[in-house]
Amino acid sequence: MNTKQQARIAEPNWWQQPLAQLKPEQWEQLCDGCGKCCLHKLENEDTGEVFLTAVACQFLDQDRVRCGCYQSRSAKNPDCLVITPENINQLAPWLPKTCAYRLRHEDQPLPGWHPLCSGVSTSVEKAGQSVRYRCLSEREVDADQDWQELILPDLI
Ligand code: SF4
Ligand code: SF4
Repeated sequence: MNTKQQARIAEPNWWQQPLAQLKPEQWEQLCDGCGKCCLHKLENEDTGEVFLTAVACQFLDQDRVRCGCYQSRSAKNPDCLVITPENINQLAPWLPKTCAYRLRHEDQPLPGWHPLCSGVSTSVEKAGQSVRYRCLSEREVDADQDWQELILPDLI
């Protein structure tokens, strides 16, 4: 048994703790890897409702659904939502409704498809919550494209 496994056993369901109590490595593990936060969003100016589009940040590795520049993401993409314990209160309305950080910030449970609950990372895609193979890079979008046509209505 390695140290990480021992820590998990010592702290079962640690993700149910308030966000402020999570250790740095637990904070990182809370991400479900859905990739939705790397999609461009449209906001309805009248209602404030936010919609996810199929347009992904150019740095998203769409096969792995991982950031291609994670350590330097805020420098490479100033619009990147780098979520921290300090800014989660401010960022939460802009995060997908299923985002684990938003859910826990709102004191809601993680869904059963979250890898921490299911025990496998493939459950995210199986539940239809991953952006894998569902988006295109912002570099591929035509200048005259109507972005409303690119809204993914089933992703929230
Ligand atoms: S939306 Fe939240 S849980 Fe999903 S990849 Fe982004 S930070 Fe992680
Ligand atoms: S820089 Fe990385 S984490 Fe930030 S939006 Fe782009 S792909 Fe996602």
